[in-house]
Amino acid sequence: MNNHELFQRALRLMPGGVNSPVRAFKSVGGEPFFTARAEGAYLWDVEGRRYIDYVGSWGPMIAGHNHPHVRAAVERAVRDGLSFGTPCPAEVRMAETLVRLVPSIDMVRMVNSGTEATMAAIRLARGATGRAKIVKFEGCYHGHGDSFLVKAGSGALTFGVPTSPGVPSAAADLTLTLPYNDLEAARALFAEQGKEIAALIIEPVAGNMNCIPPVEGYLQGLRELCTQHGALLIFDEVMTGFRVALGGAQALYGVQPDLTTLGKVIGGGMPVGAYGGRRELMEQIAPAGPIYQAGTLSGNPVAMAAGLAMLELVQEPGFFDALAARTRRLCEGLQRLADAAGVPFSTHAVGGMFGLFFARGPVRSYAQATAADIVLFNRFFHGMLKRGVFLAPSAFEAGFLSSAHSDQDVDDTLQAAREAFEEARA
Ligand code: PLP
Repeated sequence: MNNHELFQRALRLMPGGVNSPVRAFKSVGGEPFFTARAEGAYLWDVEGRRYIDYVGSWGPMIAGHNHPHVRAAVERAVRDGLSFGTPCPAEVRMAETLVRLVPSIDMVRMVNSGTEATMAAIRLARGATGRAKIVKFEGCYHGHGDSFLVKAGSGALTFGVPTSPGVPSAAADLTLTLPYNDLEAARALFAEQGKEIAALIIEPVAGNMNCIPPVEGYLQGLRELCTQHGALLIFDEVMTGFRVALGGAQALYGVQPDLTTLGKVIGGGMPVGAYGGRRELMEQIAPAGPIYQAGTLSGNPVAMAAGLAMLELVQEPGFFDALAARTRRLCEGLQRLADAAGVPFSTHAVGGMFGLFFARGPVRSYAQATAADIVLFNRFFHGMLKRGVFLAPSAFEAGFLSSAHSDQDVDDTLQAAREAFEEARA
């Protein structure tokens, strides 16, 4: 069965042929390939073509695909059973690991996805403050909960439906939106409605409108604003947690949120999310407290084994320094090639995540990100794909490196980019 045949079958059976929108290649055009196998920095499709992968399963695969240490942990766990419905020791080890490594987390609750984590964090913030409104940022994506599909990033931005049909206005009206990296706008909103705001949720490095780091002092400013107005600061570190640094963006920028959401890397490739924070907040979650949240498969033993093994790998000395250095090398190389080809281009790199913009930089805002040349990006994407390099199939997604990407992989990527830039410009 080849890629095209599989996609035709899939289109008849699943909306858009996929189980998550951006996978369908709609914004870049063409058809997705179907992966048969993944190892290290590479994916192989069902036709045997190899791709250097900069998507990394959308973030989790920070040590590369099918890492033997993670695989062995999963194989060991599977022998003892797939799910118990009682507490299991791996959950305790996972909680200990997250509390030790993430500065602001005293207690944690495991869930099954990033979406679940952010939905629960918002409920907790509303329950704890007795307030209803939340603040999010244009172009930030926090999963597909109703409260967040208002001026959202990722697939919602890619497909130009920033607020989804099906989100009742009663829910959307409780979500206030702000421009990213604009502290004055946040100050003005809080001055007006601060007393009604339960929480402000932010991707501390935005990764769903391409990749945009916070400007100097921005996260600190938001921290002060939330404290001043009695609102909770939630860092959505589903993407940035164990990706931009050990301990996440809060460790990198030295800002303590009240609540943190996690996902992706902490599951090692299995469906896992988590939320955690200050003890007196987390103790309000059932059954310790009255705010309800539950999950049949939460803390699943096989998923915990995968996540714990992945978290062991990222704690190896020098892991993030090496990852960040290689990510910078890729971005600097791409910048040189784009400049040589006369293509308007800029990049951001934070730890093992990066953004490529077909616009002169630095790109600091949602408005600038959406003004980048998407036609040029799409041509570049396909130029890279046909040369065996898989970038995220949207101009509004961050890219990811893993520790399995070698200097040779980066050199091969740059060689492909040299031709792809020329082709895109033509
Ligand atoms: N929050 C952020 C910052 C994300 O990037 C994502 C997914 O990409 C989510 C939440 C949602 O996570 P999930 O897709 O696991 O539900």
